Amino acid sequence: MFYLGVDFGITNIRAALSDQEGVFYTIYTCDTEVKAGREQVLWNIVNAVEAVIGNVDRTLLKGLAIGVPAPINPSSGTIFTIPGLKEWDNFPLAEYLRQKLSLPVFVENDANLAALGEYTFGVGGGKDYRCLVYLTISTGVGTGIIYKGQFFEGSNGFAGELGHTTVDVNGERCVCGNTGCLAHYVCGGAIRNQAINLLQNGADSVLREWCNGDLTKITSKMVGEAAQQGDQTALELLQRTGKYLGAGVTNIIHAFNPDVIVIGGGVAQIGAPLFEPMQVWVNQNAITIFQKQVAIVPASLGDNAGLYGTIAYAKALTGK
Ligand SMILES: [Zn+2]
Repeated sequence: MFYLGVDFGITNIRAALSDQEGVFYTIYTCDTEVKAGREQVLWNIVNAVEAVIGNVDRTLLKGLAIGVPAPINPSSGTIFTIPGLKEWDNFPLAEYLRQKLSLPVFVENDANLAALGEYTFGVGGGKDYRCLVYLTISTGVGTGIIYKGQFFEGSNGFAGELGHTTVDVNGERCVCGNTGCLAHYVCGGAIRNQAINLLQNGADSVLREWCNGDLTKITSKMVGEAAQQGDQTALELLQRTGKYLGAGVTNIIHAFNPDVIVIGGGVAQIGAPLFEPMQVWVNQNAITIFQKQVAIVPASLGDNAGLYGTIAYAKALTGK
């Protein structure tokens, strides 16, 4: 039997065909083309799925799960809203794809699916975790919570916006409307902007050389690489970022008492310069009985966590 998964990202669409063990037979990637409009994006999704199905006997296909970068209604498979893309408001994606592909289709939030991917095939694979919390830090902070093998979705499916929990009550206003949000301090753009600010104010750093004096070329990845090489400005910046992350992680530990917190996304790849100050903060601030039991670990499936999650979800909902 085979399962289909689609990772619907704002930049790329990735589709995969997998067996029940999570072994991918084919992966197909294409541009999402959001600017070309909803119809084009839908065509691209269907085309990507057809591409991975290829000549496989359709009676062997059990179902498809798709992860979307948006809050969704899990029972109807309807997209609630994709920020900045109005034409997707209340779009019944599961129903549309069911009709086009004649397959069972399930829609979920992408961070939830990445959490399920790590729970089933990654960090949590083979372990009997009751509660896993997944954070992905890149352009924003996405989170997913798995409790007793299920998504923790709250009343309307919106639970787990942990990137928008306050870590500084005197902080700046976040795009979400809240003040001093975790995402506002730890996402890639925040790290980049702080580095630019420091250099504009005369800080000494190898970054100045790397960007040939054009500060707009600085990225969070470069800040991470500078820190790895011992650049003091980058290290101090990430020390502060790590503290904010530590505060966010401490809130998660106190709220959910998880077995494990998995941290993925591009910013997490900075590694020790970010993880060490985060862990120090947690050790100093989390209530002892909680922190001694929780492991905080890097994601193990990288960019594929979401795709693995779609396969795990399709399998869970359609049976073997
Ligand atoms: Zn926010």
